Amino acid sequence: VEGLGKIYKLRKGNFGYEDFHAVSGATFTVNRGETLALVGESGSGKSTIAKMILQLEKSSAGTIKIAGEDISKFSGKRLFDLRRTLQPVFQDPYGSLDPLHNIGNTIMEPLKIHNVGDAASRRARMLELLDQVSLPRELATRYPNELSGGQRQRVAVARGLALKPDVLVLDEAVSALDVLVQAQILDLLAELQRDLGLTYLFITHDLAVVRLIADRVCVMKQGQIVEQATTDEVFQNPREEYTRKLLEAIP
Ligand code: ATP
Ligand code: MG
Repeated sequence: VEGLGKIYKLRKGNFGYEDFHAVSGATFTVNRGETLALVGESGSGKSTIAKMILQLEKSSAGTIKIAGEDISKFSGKRLFDLRRTLQPVFQDPYGSLDPLHNIGNTIMEPLKIHNVGDAASRRARMLELLDQVSLPRELATRYPNELSGGQRQRVAVARGLALKPDVLVLDEAVSALDVLVQAQILDLLAELQRDLGLTYLFITHDLAVVRLIADRVCVMKQGQIVEQATTDEVFQNPREEYTRKLLEAIP
């Protein structure tokens, strides 16, 4: 990922599990304030790219630049500080929310880890975040199993926003939800993007969702990006047979 000023860019990213290449030579750029969707069939390497960018897995080659700095070389405090810029929002219920932490503590967790403010200001920020994702403040003392799927996903978004990041890496963030609730979360994300100037790397296997949220699309197949275009171009004039197949799969 390489970038100048306002650009986030992945260049020739490679990642292998043992002797298997999950991602090979993937190159793309995410511009500030836009939503770039990463799509492709199951196992194509989307989540691996998310983990590479979030520095949860180290790339075996290539660069990942944010505003010109190669974050793949970061370690220690710089890596820790990177979390303030770059936050994940994973799919709930797959390990995203801790069932033993109430909602308030879940949302405040990044603030505690990063030692932001005192207990009172963290609590105030948590309540503000609940407002921001349109959840009632009473939910702060409840546990994840006492919330609906859509509410849990809003909690995951609130936690992702706690440190006021610039970029959210959303991996299948709406995939477990029914179409109506999906639309609500997508509306919320669009509103937050407008208000906060957020940049989204939006990972999904669902092209119907892409049409609703993405400015541009990267199509992944077997660890490679086979097509890269604006959302309109991909839907109106897909160049790859593989992309056409993905589009045909939309109900
Ligand atoms: P899905 O749409 O199902 O989430 P994906 O595009 O996110 O798929 P990845 O999770 O990136 O796919 O996986 C890419 C490939 O890497 C798959 O073949 C997967 O089996 C493999 N893989 C993923 N994680 C590991 C791991 N920790 N160890 C070994 N192989 C892995
Ligand atoms: Mg995945």
